[in-house]
Amino acid sequence: MAPSATLAAGPAITITDPAPDSTVLVGARFRLGWSESAPSSAPIIGRNIVQYSGPVPENGNCAKASYAIAWTNTSANPPRRLPLSGLAAGTCYYWTVTLTDVNGVSASARSGYLLGAPAVDPGVSFTFPAAGAYGDGPPSSYTVTWSETAAAGVASRSVTEEAAPMAADRTCDRVSWAAARTFRPTGAWLAVGGLTGGTCYRYSVAIRDADGRSAASRSGPLLITTVPPTCAYGDVLTTFGAYADWSRTLLDPIYRLPSTYAPTDLVYTTGIYHVSGAFRIRSLAYTDLKALADAARAAGAAIDLTSTYRTYSQQKAIYDYYVSALGPTGGLLRAARPGHSEHQLGTTIDVKAYNGVSPSNYADWTVTKAGAWMRDNAWKYGWMMSYPKATSPATTCYQSEPWHYRYVGRTVAKAAHDAGLTLRETSGAAPSPRGPEAGQDPDLGR
Ligand SMILES: [Zn+2]
Repeated sequence: MAPSATLAAGPAITITDPAPDSTVLVGARFRLGWSESAPSSAPIIGRNIVQYSGPVPENGNCAKASYAIAWTNTSANPPRRLPLSGLAAGTCYYWTVTLTDVNGVSASARSGYLLGAPAVDPGVSFTFPAAGAYGDGPPSSYTVTWSETAAAGVASRSVTEEAAPMAADRTCDRVSWAAARTFRPTGAWLAVGGLTGGTCYRYSVAIRDADGRSAASRSGPLLITTVPPTCAYGDVLTTFGAYADWSRTLLDPIYRLPSTYAPTDLVYTTGIYHVSGAFRIRSLAYTDLKALADAARAAGAAIDLTSTYRTYSQQKAIYDYYVSALGPTGGLLRAARPGHSEHQLGTTIDVKAYNGVSPSNYADWTVTKAGAWMRDNAWKYGWMMSYPKATSPATTCYQSEPWHYRYVGRTVAKAAHDAGLTLRETSGAAPSPRGPEAGQDPDLGR
């Protein structure tokens, strides 16, 4: 069927910081901000930010500067704000932000100007969590960092921690801060532990130089939570994306792998009774795939595979197929965009009953013997159902897929099972703690 003849409204964007037609004098760091909207039937799936820079003209008017493209960045994270660093004194900047929706319809906006001001001495400025930006991650230890300028040398430092319960909308906006701890670090960094889930933290650093002059800076908020991000579409490189991070790599409609991610330790699924040997998985998952299949067979619920490792381009073909069959919105719920699929990890399997039909033929495959056995027992062998019925799509962002299991190892799977959490809630749920750095295109794999 052809799409509806009426053209859906596309995305809309307004840049708020720096506001159009304004010029803002800043130090080395700034948070680019914008507001965006799109109809729910055509979500935004891409954000491309371009930084333009040029030397400040003699008349000091950044509108008259001559600009060149400094970098482009497709990893706006979280959406609607981008921390910028390395802004240079005597340089004018502006940005364009282009949104693209699932239909390929785009909208662009251009910011006002920034003028990089000379560094002050002494000076101090947070690098993580950068002023105005969010840090975001699970309970863990974090290293708070800042940069210091002090020609006379830094004589003393004091860092104050404030804490506040997370706001209901999973942000640190308009929360009530209360002073928590004070530290006296000996360098321009501070390792903080003992952070509590569901809590916002922020830090203030004050330095004094050898001449008794002081400077201070406050960080952006650091949100500690295992609550997953709201379902949205983005193209942000996942934080824990190394091959060794297989058990905690978060992949969802926001977070993705580079197109070049292709494990080198793939092995064929041969030598497993009743299981086709035509598929490939990472070698580290082989032993527990065999244990899973053997246990299922012993329980009278023998399983076979329908899909395992997929390359980026294979996933692209699958996604394109579902979009052509179901339309863009249905395709997004049914299939991951290339780079966003757990199958690219090489640790994920789609399962069916041995000699059975495709589980997608059932309204709910877990009513079958094999489907029910997998749901109740796969975790014991290190395999987690990624998109369970009870939490899909609200928490997992995809339609329920009772046949799709990801290997995370027995320890992680047991912990997630015991806590009743999905992988999206337990895996490296955090956007990159450091955020994208200005001047770098994070998509080195492209
Ligand atoms: Zn799958």
